Amino acid sequence: MADNDLKVIIKAKELARHSFKLTSNSNRFPKKYRHSLGDRIQLTSLDIYTTLTEANRINNKTARNLRCDTITKAIKHCDDLLFFIELSMNLELLFDYLKIIIRDQPTVDAVEVVHGRWRPVDHDGSWRVDMCSVCHRRMHYVDYDQPYQYCPNCGAKMDGDGNG
Ligand SMILES: [Zn+2]
Repeated sequence: MADNDLKVIIKAKELARHSFKLTSNSNRFPKKYRHSLGDRIQLTSLDIYTTLTEANRINNKTARNLRCDTITKAIKHCDDLLFFIELSMNLELLFDYLKIIIRDQPTVDAVEVVHGRWRPVDHDGSWRVDMCSVCHRRMHYVDYDQPYQYCPNCGAKMDGDGNG
């Protein structure tokens, strides 16, 4: 599977690895909070990874809505993780380490809402191809399909605004 991993999944793996490293270090993350906040950070970073791989396995054509819902769930986990990190920082448990790491994740860009839109590339009577204006990933649609609300590759919100 490794060769086919989407960039976002590779990044999610790195994120989980870093989350575990930082929250396991008792100098940075004291025992007092390890089992409440530390565990949540670890588990949520795993949830991001497993939800993304789950979404990636759902058939694009036959279960489009389920796939969109699953991607949305992954983004929700990112929201949660950002909150746990923010709380940790407020409690002065973690400083900028995790925030810097998480800022560089494409997964988390989605939380900060990168906006894009689907650009039509090609079409015929029964199918069409659109391209993400942010990452340029192409998506194949059957004509009656509704376009994704989020780009499955980079997580951009496809509401037609902004940086694409
Ligand atoms: Zn994209």
